[in-house]
Amino acid sequence: MVKSLQEKDLKYIWHPCSQMKDYEDFPPIVIERGEGVFLYDVEGKRYLDAVSSWWVNLFGHSNKRINKAIENQIDKLEHVIFVNFSHRPAIELSERIVNITPQGLNKVFFSDNGSSAIEVAIKLSFQYFQQIGKPKKTKFIAITDSYHGDTLGALSLGGIDLYSKIYKPLLLNTHRVQGPDCFRCKYGLERETCNAECFEHMERAIEENHGEIAGAIIEPMVQGAGGMKIYSAIYLKKLREICHKYDIHFIADEVAVGFGRTGKMYACEHAGISPDIMCLSKGLTAGYLPLSLTLMTDKIYDAFYDEYQTLKGFLHSHSYTGNPIGSAVACETLNIFEDENIIENNRRKSQIIKEKVTEYLMDIPYFGEFRQLGMIGAVELVKDKKTKEGFDWKERVGYKIYKKALKHGVLLRPLGNVVYFMPPYIINEEEIDIMIDAARKSIKEYFCL
Ligand SMILES: *Cc1c(COP(=O)(O)O)cnc(C)c1O
Repeated sequence: MVKSLQEKDLKYIWHPCSQMKDYEDFPPIVIERGEGVFLYDVEGKRYLDAVSSWWVNLFGHSNKRINKAIENQIDKLEHVIFVNFSHRPAIELSERIVNITPQGLNKVFFSDNGSSAIEVAIKLSFQYFQQIGKPKKTKFIAITDSYHGDTLGALSLGGIDLYSKIYKPLLLNTHRVQGPDCFRCKYGLERETCNAECFEHMERAIEENHGEIAGAIIEPMVQGAGGMKIYSAIYLKKLREICHKYDIHFIADEVAVGFGRTGKMYACEHAGISPDIMCLSKGLTAGYLPLSLTLMTDKIYDAFYDEYQTLKGFLHSHSYTGNPIGSAVACETLNIFEDENIIENNRRKSQIIKEKVTEYLMDIPYFGEFRQLGMIGAVELVKDKKTKEGFDWKERVGYKIYKKALKHGVLLRPLGNVVYFMPPYIINEEEIDIMIDAARKSIKEYFCL
């Protein structure tokens, strides 16, 4: 049965972010059901979902409370056009989100995935400056190793060549500056105690080019796809300040780090800053449904508010904008945060992850660094601990460790040489043990230790 499902899968399906030839000797794992942190394939083998199914799941698979919220909503309304029409879940969600996001973000625009939320941010920022009489502000600035999604606008802002290089002729011309690189800090400093000296690159680029820059976009505190690179909150404070000075939109891409991932509800809180535009998705629906939000200040909103004939409106939409089921799930997600003391409880879990990593992984000769913020923990493997030289990407170290971990019943999904743990928040101590023990076994097997 598994074989025929896999054969049919490969006959018809093109999987995301994949070289399909890899599937020849490594066919897709067909999942039947999920419960808590575990996924079960059609043969009953279980996998601990240590990456929250690509960073989206918060409260486990097939969560009873969220299932119920969907049931309740689906019996009332599945979807409705969102132009001129509205519904309770979207209204409730917007009010609550405005109340719990950083000060000043008072308006909410809906779309249905992280990349689209970024596209909305780009278009808003660009159009804003066209309409307030600064039409030369047309470009964006972003740092190296950033990731903002795979649609063309979002891809233009991203700094990972692996995803964007071939498309360069299609992409927006973005100012790219060297971002923080704390593990290999060129200033010889530590991220916990530095003064974000590396901000000088951003500072210089903005001082030289601010006349043409509409927005600066950044993943606050953690650059996810770039390898779970954690950096100092001071960098964000400095960016906030210079954006104010030169009338540049600070665009916070909280698609991955929002909803408690970094130990605060939003990563911007670590720096105590408010962005001008903020993008949310992934955890917004606790891993259930595609939904995203782009929040902005009144100042931006007001620049679009005028008679129709001025054509200053924001004429952007998606078919499923403001989907009621997704919105109801997002409201229930916020209820769970309130009722179950999630952020507080995660603090203890994060500590346990740290202790187990220290116990199980630190003695591996290729252990470069363990970095952690909230429910994100990452081990960077290096070829040489002294020089911190990494493994050649062609060796596909992470991919091979991933395959081994699956045999041990854990879904890890390393980014290059970075093995990371980003489990659902409901993980318990025993499950943390399974997760990190499997990482140890898989890494040791790969290196024949
Ligand atoms: C995943 C991600 C996106 C893109 O979201 P999609 O829903 O995959 O389009 C954007 N920004 C960041 C930081 C992300 O991690």
